[in-house]
Amino acid sequence: MKPCKTMKIGCHLSASGGYLAMGQTAVSIGANVFQFFTRNPRGGAAKPLDKGDIAAFLDFAAANGIGPILAHAPYTLNAAGAETRVREFAEEVMADDLDRLEHTPGAMYNFHPGSHVGQGAEEGINLISGMLVRILLRWLDAHGGKLPSTTILLETMSGKGSEVGRDFAEIRAIIDATESKLPVRGNTLGVCLDTCHIWDGGYDIVNDLDGVLAEFDRIVGINRLKAIHLNDSMNVLGAHKDRHEKIGKGKIGLDALIRVVNHPKLKDLPFYLETPCDLQGYRDEIALIKKLRSGS
Ligand code: FE
Ligand code: FE
Ligand code: ZN
Repeated sequence: MKPCKTMKIGCHLSASGGYLAMGQTAVSIGANVFQFFTRNPRGGAAKPLDKGDIAAFLDFAAANGIGPILAHAPYTLNAAGAETRVREFAEEVMADDLDRLEHTPGAMYNFHPGSHVGQGAEEGINLISGMLVRILLRWLDAHGGKLPSTTILLETMSGKGSEVGRDFAEIRAIIDATESKLPVRGNTLGVCLDTCHIWDGGYDIVNDLDGVLAEFDRIVGINRLKAIHLNDSMNVLGAHKDRHEKIGKGKIGLDALIRVVNHPKLKDLPFYLETPCDLQGYRDEIALIKKLRSGS
């Protein structure tokens, strides 16, 4: 038997108790990764960083094999907004989040590309890539030409309302429009694939996971894929709704989600649950997934 790597699995956790508390909570529910909001998901200001808490967390994470951690931008961050103040807020928040994340090196930062609110997807892509370019150029300037240690992930969206990133082509377009204007190459931009979102977006991961992944590889490049949001969906294929369901209780179903965690192209990625669960619910889902993980 080949030795198999422990799977990376965890869930979204409350950041209210700080980093060490999140690490301890993760371990208590059988997780070795976790996601958290960088600030109130519907608000603005972030809490001041507690350096002591971060140092304690980094020790704890190293001792317990925790990571990579996934920071999620607030929902109010919309780089594709029609109003200047909405776009400026997005840019300020992301720049500040990236600064803060340097205290936990090697983290990932996930954001919803944005909603074009009637301006059209093409304009949305221009606005989103424009923000990323400005943030990264300023970053390079301030850091002697070095990119952030954080990987920035574009989340695949369900296409609810005027969401940008509703298909793989829009994700690729944002990446291309950004990287073509940067003077350096790196692995700064990646993708977080949300199983609920792409299912709601019309990608049939129940009947044709291989085909969906081949399409992702052809359009975006599978090497860009850095994280999976593992969720079931309340809605049918192509519903463009974005309502997460507990694992095995929705329209995607347990068998299809287990094929996702066991797929050779995905199995070494970190999986983050964002199902409507309390901690005990997450503990149960993590245990179930580990049990059905092949070769672990
Ligand atoms: Fe998200
Ligand atoms: Fe998600
Ligand atoms: Zn969602």
